[in-house]
Amino acid sequence: MHKALAKRKKQHQFRELTSFAPSDAVTISDGEQEFINFSGNDYLGLSKHPEVIERAKKYADEYGAGATASRLINGTYDIHAKLEKKLGHTFGWESSLLFNSGFQANSTIISTLTNRHSLILADKLSHRSLLQGALASRASFRRFKHNSVSDLADQLKEAAKEDFSRIIVITESLFSMDGDSADLEKTAELCKEYGALLFVDDAHAVGVWGEQGLGLTHNIDGIDMVLATCGKAFGAFGAFVLCTKEMRDYLLNFCPGFIYTTALPPAVVGAIDAALGLIPDMESERTRLRRHIEKMKAGITEAGFSTGTADSQIIPIMVGAEEQALALAKYLKSNGFLATAIRPPTVPAGSARIRITLSSQHKEEHIELFLTALNRWTNG
Ligand code: PMP
Repeated sequence: MHKALAKRKKQHQFRELTSFAPSDAVTISDGEQEFINFSGNDYLGLSKHPEVIERAKKYADEYGAGATASRLINGTYDIHAKLEKKLGHTFGWESSLLFNSGFQANSTIISTLTNRHSLILADKLSHRSLLQGALASRASFRRFKHNSVSDLADQLKEAAKEDFSRIIVITESLFSMDGDSADLEKTAELCKEYGALLFVDDAHAVGVWGEQGLGLTHNIDGIDMVLATCGKAFGAFGAFVLCTKEMRDYLLNFCPGFIYTTALPPAVVGAIDAALGLIPDMESERTRLRRHIEKMKAGITEAGFSTGTADSQIIPIMVGAEEQALALAKYLKSNGFLATAIRPPTVPAGSARIRITLSSQHKEEHIELFLTALNRWTNG
């Protein structure tokens, strides 16, 4: 342990926690300085929405601080059951099942669905929670090139010659580091052709993209299961799976990450419930967010940086060298902007970057100030 920590320190990769206090959805302070936050996932500002906070309080008042047991014991209150029905109905799926976090869901569902006769095929840039799920399984595990439908097709063709009892394809709809999106229609077609089960992580798209903010998976035929988190655009915490009734039954009977953990606390259920009611009607927030995305991307390009393949509220400012990314993050911080440097091994070597995330609650002026600072950095 000591050696590993010393190595981290030597490589300037030692992680520590900083405490922040939020003033509003996009402004936070570390006690000394106030920052415009370009690192959060509160894409619609719902974490500070009065209705969301009010329902969290109401459910806590009525049901208590905790659910006191796991779902299969006595932790399923009527508010959990109603919320699952409402989630399934709103997103247009037969069923839904709450999980305590996206990480918990991804890291345990995948091994629940596979055994040593199965194959997991995952996009190379899949989130750590998905990777964790694949590694925890006894299945064969292969990865296809990022967003490459043709590589997926080749690998499925190869796999068809082998004797797998089940093939599960895993991808994200909107990738958390590059901000680009998968071709879900073609992926679904391929999965259908080869009889593979398609599991899509819609964490960053739900609330923001798709008709009524119902995600990039919404209304796409051939997706078997969707994972969405409530810690991002929902502004709350927790996660849910969208699936068939049979799959829901299977997960609640066999998935350890669902079975052996205390149910989501009432306040969190209240926050999710209120956010779910608000999201479909937040079209003006989504329009504003799209405007912000265009402005930010154009400005970053004008300042001389690439934004890679990003086409969303997640925008990388490609820097390349690690030291440069760290120096730019530090410079931005000293100018009042929180924007995280992302370095290898989180991203491939030579692709260190600053990762910007935008919220509908940012003001145009925030983006202009940020771009002015970025230009000052470029022009020395
Ligand atoms: N999937 C993706 C793509 C994510 O980015 C994240 C969060 N960083 C998760 C899953 C995990 O979700 P949660 O925060 O609810 O654990």
